[in-house]
Amino acid sequence: MDVRKVLLTEDEMPRQWYNILADIKMNPPLGPDGKPISPDALAPVFPMNLIEQEVSSERWITIPDEVLNVLTIWRPSPMVRARSLEKALDTPARIYFKNEALSPPGSHKPNTAVPQAYYNKVFGIKKLTTETGAGQWGSALAFACSQFGLECKVFMVRISFDQKPYRKSLMAAWGANCVASPSRETKAGRDVLEQFPDSPGSLGIAISEAIEEAVGDTSGQTRYSLGSVLNHVMLHQTIIGLEAQKQMKKIGEYPDIVIGCAGGGSNFAGLAFPFVLDKINGKKVEIYPVEPTACPTLTRSPFAYDHGDSAGYTPLLPMHSLGHTFVPAPIHAGGLRYHGMAPTVSQLATEGIIEPKAVTQLAAYQAGVLMARTEGIIPAPETNHALACVVDEARKAKEEGKEKVILFNFSGHGLIDLVAYDKYFSGELKDYVLSQEEEDKFEACLKNYPKPQLLKSR
Ligand SMILES: *Cc1c(COP(=O)(O)O)cnc(C)c1O
Repeated sequence: MDVRKVLLTEDEMPRQWYNILADIKMNPPLGPDGKPISPDALAPVFPMNLIEQEVSSERWITIPDEVLNVLTIWRPSPMVRARSLEKALDTPARIYFKNEALSPPGSHKPNTAVPQAYYNKVFGIKKLTTETGAGQWGSALAFACSQFGLECKVFMVRISFDQKPYRKSLMAAWGANCVASPSRETKAGRDVLEQFPDSPGSLGIAISEAIEEAVGDTSGQTRYSLGSVLNHVMLHQTIIGLEAQKQMKKIGEYPDIVIGCAGGGSNFAGLAFPFVLDKINGKKVEIYPVEPTACPTLTRSPFAYDHGDSAGYTPLLPMHSLGHTFVPAPIHAGGLRYHGMAPTVSQLATEGIIEPKAVTQLAAYQAGVLMARTEGIIPAPETNHALACVVDEARKAKEEGKEKVILFNFSGHGLIDLVAYDKYFSGELKDYVLSQEEEDKFEACLKNYPKPQLLKSR
């Protein structure tokens, strides 16, 4: 019998994260004066130990035992050969996926929520605030905070708050407090509601609210936590790709193509960055982040300096951005409705080391349903975007008659997103493609900011 699951023992778990900042050149984040910010400027928002990680250029960073101990609740995650999917596609490609759906909240997000809660705890912080799109990050942080005895407050994007009630229940089960954003609890939220009382919200708005609440705690015991985009988040997620490399090696395989869906970039980066290192060192591997055509951050927007949040509280980050005022169409992949992209992922895209793709919502669901009916697991709407690209590549391999090895990240399950599947089955979901009018808007939004340099890492 051919192998289906490739497993690692707990002993074989990676003991260090891979930090891509050791291997690429980056534009610095800028303050309001247009000058590079000093790490100290972030101290009201993040604990110093995480800020140090954010700016570190050490290639390997040790994972604390207390973090490994919690990660072993579900890690190492299996790497699975999608034999039934291959068969349905009648492809000569061998398709493997890392199953990140097995964590208690059901996605890859606890890979960073757990270390973030740990470092805050060690630093003496009592409460974390955050934003959440589809609710996966909020539930991941709620879970992590419960593991380390921290309080947790979550601002959840309104459209998901209404569409995905069960994520609130998860957060409540783990003891967190979740409110819809825009809310009346912060100035950032009130300002939006005054102008747009029916605002569906956006990740950018919710981030503004969560930062405002953290910085506003005069006791100094509250900090903010971000589930994607930042360097330390990408760092924590690399455990996915480092495990996958060991698993590939065990069965004598190496991927020709590595694929992950990309919202802020973290699950993609987590799987891909260790392979990016291989590529930098001369290996041949194609690496595709996949985004929705409704929010085409890497494929349609410029590499620019922009804020990470809609109110403009955060430093200017060098990234592909649709503009911090962009409110994407209400697609169901809430986790992919972010205006920006991780600066590290953006930098790799500008250098052509990775090649971004965009897929439509309906193509994504079609691929997701095929996955459900072959491999059995029901993917999250975000994960479906990676799957649409996998299906494309498997078909291409068939046309070319090539035995390609495809590795993708199964970032989460869709058991709490079944409403979206119902809508897909009843024909209510549609495709959105960014219009020229929207494109003009984000160009206007970004026009007055400094432009990042086009750096070459090699
Ligand atoms: C949040 C989320 C994403 C998108 O976020 P990234 O930071 O781009 O990974 C993708 N898939 C799932 C299941 C998510 O929960």
